[in-house]
Amino acid sequence: MSKVLIIGAGGVGGVVTHKCAQHPEVFSEICLASRNEDKCRAIAAQLDRPIRTARVDADNVEELVRLIEAERPDVLVHVALPYQDLTIMEACLRTGTPYLDTANYEHPDEAKFEYREQWAFQDRYREAGLMATLGCGFDPGMTNIYCAWGQKHLFDEIHHIDILDANGGDHGYPFATNFNPEINIREVTANGRYWEDGQWKETPPLAEKRVFDFDGIGPKDLYLLYHEELESLVQNIRGLKRIRFWMTFSQQYLTHLKVLENVGMTGIEPVEYEGKEIIPLQFLRKLLPDPATLGPRTQGKTNIGVILDGIKDGRRRKVHIYNMCDHQACYREVQSQAVSYTTGVPATLGAMLMAQGIWKGEGVFNVEQLDPDPFMERIGDLGLPWQVKELDPDSDPLG
Ligand code: NDP
Repeated sequence: MSKVLIIGAGGVGGVVTHKCAQHPEVFSEICLASRNEDKCRAIAAQLDRPIRTARVDADNVEELVRLIEAERPDVLVHVALPYQDLTIMEACLRTGTPYLDTANYEHPDEAKFEYREQWAFQDRYREAGLMATLGCGFDPGMTNIYCAWGQKHLFDEIHHIDILDANGGDHGYPFATNFNPEINIREVTANGRYWEDGQWKETPPLAEKRVFDFDGIGPKDLYLLYHEELESLVQNIRGLKRIRFWMTFSQQYLTHLKVLENVGMTGIEPVEYEGKEIIPLQFLRKLLPDPATLGPRTQGKTNIGVILDGIKDGRRRKVHIYNMCDHQACYREVQSQAVSYTTGVPATLGAMLMAQGIWKGEGVFNVEQLDPDPFMERIGDLGLPWQVKELDPDSDPLG
């Protein structure tokens, strides 16, 4: 019986709270904290068991330490924003609390995200005998675990990895993002980057396009993006020669984005407006629909997974491992759409495995460094069943 402290009451925080609440045999106590406690109370009111709520500014280490000392959780799940990774990791260290997140540290004033500063906690977590699990959402998260499981069971060497993230959902708005708009737009407007033959290669934003026929969704345009799991998978997958990340975008989404970019609305440099400094992207976020409200409107499915291409027993092998998730089914279960659901469910399972001592370790871990088996065995029952489709090793499914 454990206590979980969840920080962040947005789309993902709502799912994690629902999912933890569904498992009182693991989480006998739950506290949900965010900078606006009303949002925590609104999520608490959706549940059929009582939880605690609190207000915290997660940019402030002292406030975090006070909250953690008052609540004494067995594990902390950070699903606020990537800007808070370092302050929350610091507070967990100071209080001896195991830490888990779903997104790597992003510098608030630079469109740059990387693991360097979180990996720099390695020695201090190790010396404290404490565990931090990084990137336990869907991508990063489930996709890394698919790779680790493939490496353990299906391949002797994995040479090529393509991570495919498709959202076939329709929310009916002309333009909205499915998760935090600031993070989403910063990710999409950045240069594409992939790793091949030991080197990082850059492409202009959205310059590489392919089409893939997704189970449950049909053919979709995919664009090459840089995504954070590439940084850790390059280090942790044996024999890797190339890894790329692809995401689907509709033409309508891209046209809106282009216009917003052209008029300067996606900028992150402050501009002066009527005597006040505003950051255009943060202002845009205020205007766009809150991702947490898309749930009731969104129809259709997501299909996210990995194509692994490598060698097993001297022969070439290629597989697609993926999950399909239905937006409306997620909404019926936890009042949230599939993008938040597919992030929140792996975060919940990671926290459960840590709380139960099934995932244990001293130091800072990316999820593919942990045993994938207990995760793959349980994640289907928790709501994200997976399948493995054998592909012709000589085919090029990305055309
Ligand atoms: P939202 O913006 O919906 O929610 C973020 C929450 O954090 C909000 O409740 C927000 O408060 C709160 N928050 C922001 N700043 C602070 C602060 N300083 N102190 C306390 N609380 C704060 O985002 P999502 O739920 O969509 O995403 C949550 C996390 O999940 C993000 O880090 C995102 O990058 C990550 N993610 C990971 C994915 C994966 O597959 N790995 C996929 C999708 C998301 P307020 O409501 O007041 O703004």
